[in-house]
Amino acid sequence: MKRYHDLIVHEGNQPLVDALEMSVLSLLAGTPIHVHVEGLRGTGKTTVVRAMKNILPSIERIAGCWYNCDPGNPHCPIHRNLGPEDLSLLGTESVSVPFLEISHAAKLGTVVGSIDLAKVVDPNKPEIALLPGIIPRAYRGIIFVDEINRLADTSPELTDVLLDVMGTKPGRIQVEETGLPTFTLPVMCCVWAASNPDEEPGALEDIRRQLSDRFDFVVNMGRPQNHDTVKKILCGHAASDESLWPQDRGFVPQKAELLQRIALPDELASVLAELYVSFGIESLRAVEAIALGARARAALDSRTRVLLDDIRGVLPITLRHRVDGATLINISKFLDEYESRHGRPREQDRLPENSEDDSDEGETSSHNPRDLARRGDNFMKPDSLWDRLMRGIGLIRPDVSRASRNPQQRGLASCAGSSGGQRGHGEHYATGEGTSIADPKDIDICAPPGKAKSLFQLAGGDILFTEEDLRIR
Ligand SMILES: [Zn+2]
Repeated sequence: MKRYHDLIVHEGNQPLVDALEMSVLSLLAGTPIHVHVEGLRGTGKTTVVRAMKNILPSIERIAGCWYNCDPGNPHCPIHRNLGPEDLSLLGTESVSVPFLEISHAAKLGTVVGSIDLAKVVDPNKPEIALLPGIIPRAYRGIIFVDEINRLADTSPELTDVLLDVMGTKPGRIQVEETGLPTFTLPVMCCVWAASNPDEEPGALEDIRRQLSDRFDFVVNMGRPQNHDTVKKILCGHAASDESLWPQDRGFVPQKAELLQRIALPDELASVLAELYVSFGIESLRAVEAIALGARARAALDSRTRVLLDDIRGVLPITLRHRVDGATLINISKFLDEYESRHGRPREQDRLPENSEDDSDEGETSSHNPRDLARRGDNFMKPDSLWDRLMRGIGLIRPDVSRASRNPQQRGLASCAGSSGGQRGHGEHYATGEGTSIADPKDIDICAPPGKAKSLFQLAGGDILFTEEDLRIR
């Protein structure tokens, strides 16, 4: 199994690495982010997921508790009714954040819980007791479900269990066994899942849309696109020197603590409210996921302030399974327009790495090479596929993103309308008026040579050109 620092991070798997890191922070901060990664077989989805075990820190639990009871807030049927004195007699122990897997062939009993046969047949003290299943034992940890589309297709009862687990934060699970009283447990864990939508039975959102919506993030796993990356993967070592990774586990709790302190600014909450209402987004979970994802992205980048760019950075992974492509583009335009009216964040909005008033965050980030890489070009840049797509629309009408950021040159003026107020502004884009398609006959379109690939596999710069790009060519 590859370790976290052995991972070769490239343009295809970077979004997954970022999403899982945000998920780990969210778990420690008490509001788990559920992540589903989709991709073709052999792209290394499960390798990345399992490598994340290396950054999972330790947690304190009541000694010997299979349910991982927090000593300060026990939840399991054995410990939740004990007083502080009884609890202190039990003592505590430190264990790694649990990471448990559910296969598509799993049985309900092993996932939820079943009668503990060893205790039933114990000749000295026979008793009926429950053997907790994977989900109760993953409390404060991570559950990984590989091939979740197959599980949803063949095990409707397990799917229903996952719907309960992921329906609220924390979720819940009901345990029923003949001969034992039924009881309900809270479930506080992240669910990570992987699937290949190109194989039977198809994409999860087509099989069980309700379960697909339970995932806060859906990430598309891409292939490495260049020669050097593939070579590094073949050689089996990451570019980073292992000695640079002294605290793989250390940066996680610090940034999780930072996440707990970060609030979504009121003006960005208004933007999300407007986005939800005007674009008729079906699930409230979508905007909740954007809000939490934006905060986690700021924490991962060692900032205390959430920026509009954080919202942009998580839009594709929070909305691609919830809205169609045209709506996503119109939402992106809506944010462009918002930004052109309110301006880009000032430089001082970004915290200096070692500023006096935020020195702890500076330290948090300074030792982790992945942080340094993240500050480069790869960290879920807002200038991602959808931004490039937006610029690509510049082929068929004036360059949208650039024009909208510069009111003097805006060809978008008629699209943006004259409304100065914030509320209701998104309705204009929601109706699709932000999209105007020119006559294709009037446009020179440069098609890339070579074999066709899926949209998510392509680097946008290879296929989409702005008018300026074309002039240079
Ligand atoms: Zn317990």
